[in-house]
Amino acid sequence: MILVTGGAGFIGSNFVLDWLEHPQTRDEAVVNLDALTYAGNLRNLESLQGNAKHVFVRGDICDRELMDRLLEQHRPRAIVHFAAESHVDRSIHGPGEFMRTNVQGTFTLLEAARAHWASLPESERSAFRFHHVSTDEVYGSLAPGAPAFTETHPYEPNSPYSASKAASDHLVRAWHHTYGLPVVTTNCSNNYGPYHFPEKLIPLMIVNALAGKPLPVYGDGQQIRDWLYVKDHCSGIRAVLQGGRLGETYNIGGWNEQANIDIVKTICALLDELRPDPAGAYARLITHVADRPGHDRRYAIDARKIERELGWRPAETFESGIRKTVQWYLDHAEWVAEMQSGEYREWLETNYVQR
Ligand code: NAD
Repeated sequence: MILVTGGAGFIGSNFVLDWLEHPQTRDEAVVNLDALTYAGNLRNLESLQGNAKHVFVRGDICDRELMDRLLEQHRPRAIVHFAAESHVDRSIHGPGEFMRTNVQGTFTLLEAARAHWASLPESERSAFRFHHVSTDEVYGSLAPGAPAFTETHPYEPNSPYSASKAASDHLVRAWHHTYGLPVVTTNCSNNYGPYHFPEKLIPLMIVNALAGKPLPVYGDGQQIRDWLYVKDHCSGIRAVLQGGRLGETYNIGGWNEQANIDIVKTICALLDELRPDPAGAYARLITHVADRPGHDRRYAIDARKIERELGWRPAETFESGIRKTVQWYLDHAEWVAEMQSGEYREWLETNYVQR
């Protein structure tokens, strides 16, 4: 049994689905704890209905009593911690919630995990893992041509989001060094793929293009990000959870640097091919807007450590992954429409399961 936090969000739900499908993990149950904020979506997990290996609990990682109760009841052998506020723009407009969930929430979870771990019999204690899922944004911004971030790159977070994630990474590290909690941390580049909430760059562009709306590109669009298909992130987490060395951090990335404007043009070209618009090429909708304050110019991940130590490699190239992603959004218009409507929130209030 593993406990996943934030397993109704974009990456967390992909991880839970992947875990319960993969031949090596599908027999091990998942307790999935999620507060179901605006970013949490139980629809992502609909295919697991009736699967006794999946137990969903709606709750907040800041609730220490709930955390203690869950850990005592289910006695997981690992915690995989995704739950976070994750949108940089939202962190600029309202950083408070980011400090609460990402910093205070991680602290609360670490303390509950420490008490649980200490209560385990010796034989189970050494096998226990606290896997913290983090981002490459903690390393700050890279100059053009500078080498990609390795795990020893100094932390230089620039947004309230990345600062809160950096703080949580430091807490996790300290809980290992001070208390011996068996932790591993992964810092991953930008993910894309199915179930991505349509406020983030790639789904926003697909959804807006299909609706004939402007495709807003910050500044000159030359901000460079490293992109990884979400299922490759999931396989990287599985690899680190299984074989990562205690107290270590592992970068996960796809060696796939792309400028934002090029991503938008790629999406437009794929849509031109897969769903041509009689009004003309989708690129006509590209609209440059004022840049985000403090916008990092470039992130790039050096993923050689996880490749060397654990033999992990991404299965998708950017070309194959982005094609699958655009096709997924074309095939799931209902999911998108529901995400954008108030109906989903109403459905949620009456349909979530609490155990
Ligand atoms: P997301 O915003 O899609 O999902 C976050 C989930 O956490 C949601 O389901 C939400 O309901 C839940 N949540 C929020 N606050 C909570 C709380 N207080 N208690 C319990 N649940 C809560 O985010 P995501 O993109 O899936 O990211 C997941 C993790 O991966 C985050 O920790 C993020 O920092 C990290 N990460 C994301 C990316 C990326 O490209 N999206 C890249 C690297 C790392």
